[in-house]
Amino acid sequence: MGGFIVAVDLGGTQIRTALCREDGTIIKRISDLTRAAEGLDAVLDRLIGSVYAVLPDRVEDVEAIGVAAPGPLDPRTGVVISAGNLPGWTNVPLKNILEREFGVPAYAGNDANVAALAEQRFGAGQGIHDLVYITVSTGIGGGIIVDDRMVLGSRGLAAEVGHQIVFPDGPRCTCGGKGCLEAISSGPAIAAYAVERISAGEPSVLTAMVDGDLNRITARLVNEAAQAGDALAQQAFHRAGFYLGLGIISLMHILNPAIFILGGSVALHSGNLLWEPMHKVIRERAMSPLYWEHTPIVPAALGDDVGLLGALALVLAERGTV
Ligand SMILES: [Zn+2]
Repeated sequence: MGGFIVAVDLGGTQIRTALCREDGTIIKRISDLTRAAEGLDAVLDRLIGSVYAVLPDRVEDVEAIGVAAPGPLDPRTGVVISAGNLPGWTNVPLKNILEREFGVPAYAGNDANVAALAEQRFGAGQGIHDLVYITVSTGIGGGIIVDDRMVLGSRGLAAEVGHQIVFPDGPRCTCGGKGCLEAISSGPAIAAYAVERISAGEPSVLTAMVDGDLNRITARLVNEAAQAGDALAQQAFHRAGFYLGLGIISLMHILNPAIFILGGSVALHSGNLLWEPMHKVIRERAMSPLYWEHTPIVPAALGDDVGLLGALALVLAERGTV
């Protein structure tokens, strides 16, 4: 006891690394650009270098290393199977690489999965045994905790809540499927829907906001337009919220969690635009009020540190330190 844990948040844009204590105190932290385009070896070198940079004077005081990495990832073997925003990251044995380099136990988890652990241990889900975490951002990811255990599935591939098919003939998804929740309610999907309707000739202030260059429309701009009263932009968020609500109803019916925690820039910055239609459809379409009347849906509490604290929470969970 009393030792340190090194937590790493490996993202497509930044590698954030911190020396932590078990209680979540961050002793020392650094961040570096991932520069993912330079490929696997360069990014791995930077990741390892960042761990060296935060090590304490007595290296033997480090008990373990935890990494939050993009999925799909097998948390039992610590192998990153593929990572869409990290070119070259296919079947990378991250756990083994770190254990060999540093001689301490290492653990790797899917970033959305470990975010659920972080929110349970340090954030909006403290003291709650059954929860679902959903991040709505560039993609839609999730983490499910049942009876204080993260649901991994037989191959470690569980909790892909963004790839529930909510609209069989809906838009193409990044996963190759069609009509997944991610293809309708993620940031890029909201922007794409607005572009589609404007391209079909419908009026919106968005056209002027991007000087007619529709490729520049982002979810953030659609949000601004909607806040300013633009009907088409409001409908884009309404649609996203409606389908997000449908996805949540399925999760309520299947898992009956005690709380839903929503993170990610789209969920956290769109306010009622997204949340109102989501709540409305849940009330109208859930099988019984028992599923939602005592089941709060709350914003995530941990902000930018969710990945680091997730990596730490993963280590604590793997060691059974509850
Ligand atoms: Zn999909």
